Amino acid sequence: MKKEDCIFCKIANGEIPANALYEDEVVKVIFDLSPASRGHVLILPKNHFDNVYSLDSQTAAHIFQVAVKIANGLKTALNCEGLNIVQNNGEAAGQTVMHFHMHLIPRYKQDTVNITWVPGENSEQKIEELKAKIIPYL
Ligand code: 5GP
Ligand code: ZN
Repeated sequence: MKKEDCIFCKIANGEIPANALYEDEVVKVIFDLSPASRGHVLILPKNHFDNVYSLDSQTAAHIFQVAVKIANGLKTALNCEGLNIVQNNGEAAGQTVMHFHMHLIPRYKQDTVNITWVPGENSEQKIEELKAKIIPYL
C-alpha cells in the first residue's frame, strides 16, 4: 500500500526519480540527500509503513537481508572501517520522514558522525521490573 503525499512512497515507487543503488520487488536503496558520511544510504520499503511498529515480519526480514548485502558491499567498495545501522521511530527519536527507512552509515576514523548517548546505570531490580512490565506484551 502506498500513502498519498509521502515522499518516500514516491521515491521508492519511481514517481520521483532517484539514483538507486539497489532495487528489488520489496525495497529501493537510495543515497541520502544530506549524507552523514561517504556512502550513507537509506533502505526504503516500496509499501508504506509509518515506522517499525507497523512493519510486517516478512518485509522486516527482507529489509535486514538487504541491509547485510549492502553493508558488505559498502565495506568492500569503500573500505569503511565501521558501519552504523540507524532506524529512527517517532519525532522523539529523530524521525523526520514518516515512512519507515533504515540508515546505513559507513564510518571512517576521524569522520564527523556523532551517534552517542550518556550511559546510565542498570540493576537487577530495575531489569526485573522492566521484564515484568514488557514481557506480557511480547
Ligand atoms: P530520519 O531523520 O527520518 O531518520 O531520516 C530522514 C533522512 O532522509 C535524512 O537523513 C534526510 O537527509 C533524508 N532525506 C529526506 N528527504 C530526502 C529526499 O528527498 N531524498 C533523499 N535521498 N533523502 C532524503
Ligand atoms: Zn510512504
